[in-house]
Amino acid sequence: MRLFAAVLPPPERLDELGRVVDRLRELPGAGGVRWTSSGGWHLTLAFMGEVDEALVPELRVRLGRAASRTPGFSLRLRGGGHFGRRALWAGVAGDLDVLRLLAERSDAAARRAGVGMGEHRRYRGHLTVGRGVGVDVGPFLEVLGGFEGGRWEVGELVLVRSLLPVSGVRGERPRYEAVGRWPLGGSGGGAG
Ligand code: ATP
Ligand code: MG
Repeated sequence: MRLFAAVLPPPERLDELGRVVDRLRELPGAGGVRWTSSGGWHLTLAFMGEVDEALVPELRVRLGRAASRTPGFSLRLRGGGHFGRRALWAGVAGDLDVLRLLAERSDAAARRAGVGMGEHRRYRGHLTVGRGVGVDVGPFLEVLGGFEGGRWEVGELVLVRSLLPVSGVRGERPRYEAVGRWPLGGSGGGAG
C-alpha cells in the first residue's frame, strides 16, 4: 500500500486556509491549477510510497516509538511558496525544530522497518494546495503571503494511506485514509 506519515491540522485551521484558497481559485490562471481537496490537506512528514504489507507491523511499532519520543509542539500555517511549477503550498511556522525532528524520526522509523526511502533530503514543512502551477505564480504567492493562520497543538503522528484515483469511480472512497495514529510523547525520553 502507498503510505506516508503526516501531521493533520485540525478542521478549524483547515477552514482558515480554505478561505484563502477560495480566493486563490478566483485569480486569473487558477483554472490551470490542479487544486488539492481541502478534506485531505496535510503536512507530509515522510513519504514512503509503496510499502510491502509484510513491513507494516514493524513500521507501526517504529512510528509509535518515534511519536512517543517526540514532545507535543505547536504550529500555525503561514504564508506560502512553490516548488517550481509543480506545487503551490502554504507554509508553516512555530516549533519547526520539533516538526523537523518528527519528520527525521519518521524517516528513520521507515528506513529501519525496511522501507526503501530513496534519497534523504532536508525536510521542508509545507502543505500543498495546488499542483501544476502555470507560468505566473506571483499573484498566488501575493495572496498566500498575507495569510496567517491560528496556532494549534500537534498531538499525534498519523500514518496515511494514499489511494490512487480509480478512473470512472467518483466520490465515495476517501483519497487519503488514516490507518494509524500515535500520540506524541511529551517529555521526549526513552531508551534505545
Ligand atoms: P497525486 O500523486 O495523484 O498527485 P498526491 O501527490 O496527493 O496525489 P501521493 O503521490 O500518494 O498523493 O503523495 C502523498 C503525499 O506525499 C503528498 O503530500 C505528496 O506531496 C507527498 N509526496 C509524494 N511523493 C513524494 C516524494 N517523492 N517525496 C516527498 N513527498 C512526496
Ligand atoms: Mg504525488
